[in-house]
Amino acid sequence: MKEYYFAVIKFPVLVSTVLIILVGLFFLLALGSNSRTGISGNETIIYTLVFISLVFLVSNWILVLMSTHSVIKPPFVQRFSHWMLSHIYYPMAKALNFITLQKTHTLQESFLNFNNEIVMSNYMRLENPKMLVLLPHCLQGSECKIRITNDINDCADCGACDICTVKNALSNQPVKVAVASGGSLARKLIADNRPDLIIAVACHRDLTEGVRDAWQFPVYSILNERPKGPCFETTVSLKAIEFAINRFK
Ligand code: SF4
Repeated sequence: MKEYYFAVIKFPVLVSTVLIILVGLFFLLALGSNSRTGISGNETIIYTLVFISLVFLVSNWILVLMSTHSVIKPPFVQRFSHWMLSHIYYPMAKALNFITLQKTHTLQESFLNFNNEIVMSNYMRLENPKMLVLLPHCLQGSECKIRITNDINDCADCGACDICTVKNALSNQPVKVAVASGGSLARKLIADNRPDLIIAVACHRDLTEGVRDAWQFPVYSILNERPKGPCFETTVSLKAIEFAINRFK
């Protein structure tokens, strides 16, 4: 229960904490130097620039928080907020997570849940969205002789792994399903298909890197299950994939 709770609120709490610390430090320094020697002309310029940056960081964070339950307009503001989420706020949370010796995977899971909320609230009303379901290569049976890279239909339906379960269940859905054996292939599949929305299945680390890497695209994340350990014959909840497709189509 505690783990689940953390997996939901950890990321926004860490980012908010970093921002509160930065604002607190700013006022401590500014008021401290003012009461000691007064603030010189150069210091005034520096403090003003830092203050503007902090106001910008805090107001954009409030916008990101709002985007978890409402649509952000215009689209360029939404894209910019998403860039900030991936490139500024995530590293901030990661730094505090590291300093406080917290587990990385709970931060990653919380970041992915947070991003899913944004994707759900901002992209649910797309008309006939072009969806790409990206599956990880480790879902495939280790003894399978077929090299499934791009097209999931290459699977021979032997039933030994979840690839055929997903393939058959999604055959009538309006989505393209592909297997990516790594970040480069995932990037190529995204560039070739130019989807309106990506539903990605992978582990904590790969999903976090993927969401940040493909920040221009809305990526809905689904964590895979690892009953035999990482990167080996993993499984995925078909219900979670179908839930995502039905929410967006
Ligand atoms: S279900 Fe498909 S991908 Fe999985 S082991 Fe059998 S043939 Fe290979």
